[in-house]
Amino acid sequence: MPPINEYKCSKCGFSLQRGWGGYKYVEADAALINERISKLSEVMEMLEKINQKITEEERVIENLTRDISDLMRGFEDLGLEGLEWRRGIRDKYDVLHASTPQFVRFNQEVDLLSKQKRELKRIEKRLRMRDQEEIRVECPHPGELDTVMLVLGRNAAPDLIKERAGFNSHCVCLDCLHQFDADLRDEIANQWRLYYDAPDGVTFFRGLKKLFAVNEKCIPREVWKGISEDWKKDGRKCPQCGSSNVKTAFELIGEPCPKCKEGTIEEIARGIVC
Ligand SMILES: [Zn+2]
Ligand SMILES: [Zn+2]
Ligand SMILES: [Zn+2]
Repeated sequence: MPPINEYKCSKCGFSLQRGWGGYKYVEADAALINERISKLSEVMEMLEKINQKITEEERVIENLTRDISDLMRGFEDLGLEGLEWRRGIRDKYDVLHASTPQFVRFNQEVDLLSKQKRELKRIEKRLRMRDQEEIRVECPHPGELDTVMLVLGRNAAPDLIKERAGFNSHCVCLDCLHQFDADLRDEIANQWRLYYDAPDGVTFFRGLKKLFAVNEKCIPREVWKGISEDWKKDGRKCPQCGSSNVKTAFELIGEPCPKCKEGTIEEIARGIVC
């Protein structure tokens, strides 16, 4: 259960985004989203066809039930133990309730898929409007994984999830005061980043191994690059002024206010979200 905090200057009213320092995200690009949409459409088409068949089947069963009832009435008219026989065949085959539950479940499936398709179309529209190759889709709490699965698919491989999902921290540039979100992965003190997507032990040791594998005094640039790409997602760099003097909300707690330089940034608890 993450907290809802406010991050504010004790003096001047400067504030950062409220919440728990950031949010989980999953990266989406046009190729991926379009593939997901076309796959979904395929499955929905198939379901639609099956639904039609079930409807036909229901009609057949309805007719059959009527025919059998008529037949049983015929037996009764002939005095051939009609009543007992009717009970017998009803218990044996349950003709009346043959396919209704499956039918309802299938309809719910179509509803769920159309909802997913609508959400994917929204993401696709955002990609088009911003004219960006890739966007980070926020995964709201709770149910972060649902959004991840929506974008990557229910059967997404763990490696793909690791590659595409992350945690965007609320950041501020100490030089120009621009506020933005970035996945730094080296920030201090945010336990929620650990809970979500901190680099794990495997990534850490993979980096160490790469370092030890170098048989030279000076570690080549590409090796450093490989390690930091594994480890980091974004650099500490303000997208507005280019300054590397960037801090996250969590790192500013107890630090001087970047705006008035007199007050201190305080964390004020405002409850928790389940
Ligand atoms: Zn201030
Ligand atoms: Zn800046
Ligand atoms: Zn919760």
